[in-house]
Amino acid sequence: MSEVDVPEDHPRYESLLTRHRIEDGVAKGITSQQGLIAQGRGEAFDYLLGEETTPSADEAERVAAAHLLLAEHAVLSVNGNVAALCPGELVELADVVGADLEVNLFNRTEERMRAIVEHLEAHGATDVKGLAADARIPGLSHERAKVDADGIYDADVVLVPLEDGDRAEALSAMGKTNVVVDLNPMSRSPQTAAVPVIDNVVRAIPNVTRHARDLADATDDELRDIVDAFDAEAALADAEARIRDGGDGSID
Ligand code: ATP
Ligand code: MG
Repeated sequence: MSEVDVPEDHPRYESLLTRHRIEDGVAKGITSQQGLIAQGRGEAFDYLLGEETTPSADEAERVAAAHLLLAEHAVLSVNGNVAALCPGELVELADVVGADLEVNLFNRTEERMRAIVEHLEAHGATDVKGLAADARIPGLSHERAKVDADGIYDADVVLVPLEDGDRAEALSAMGKTNVVVDLNPMSRSPQTAAVPVIDNVVRAIPNVTRHARDLADATDDELRDIVDAFDAEAALADAEARIRDGGDGSID
């Protein structure tokens, strides 16, 4: 079944479309089989969150945009799931905030690295990083530590969607500002992030771009005020409350 076979009036159209994109990603050699499992976990949390961007996720997405605009060197990390789900949207965000794109895989194979670079290029990306792998993130095993010296290694702000907890933590330990997009607020990756974005990456990335366009004329002081006002703990607590009882966490 391809994208066109999903009837648009199906009540869970977006969810089915997303699933088919991941299936296509696996068929094209972009997404790993592990990625299918990650997708299933994500769907469950998205269902519990109401399959919409919550007000607190929207706020986190605005803060993410402010961080990306303030960065000396921002890098958007791309894995096999996000490459399949929203390649064009990642290229657009990179353009709007002046960030680099770097392919960074948990299960790294040269074939998959190259397939993802080519896929991003087909969606308009140029100078995609990740193939050089000439630097290492300290504290991780060899394969999982590989990054580009002039990419993630050098970045001050990194956006990592669906990242593994260990690697998210190791990036934070390097002093980088970590923006993690993940639907599970209980996962370690968003818990170690400066900015946890608890939202589906399919909605989160275009919304960060929209906020970045909105903030294009903001001064650095205004951007810093947005960043400073953010409370990561509160964002995680809000998402968890919504999942547990469908509420906003307030006592009634
Ligand atoms: P750990 O607690 O060790 O980090 P995990 O629950 O994160 O484990 P993984 O399968 O490695 O397990 O991670 C997949 C993560 O990606 C899950 O937290 C899932 O909610 C999230 N995820 C999957 N699809 C999406 C998506 N489309 N948008 C945002 N997050 C997603
Ligand atoms: Mg995780």
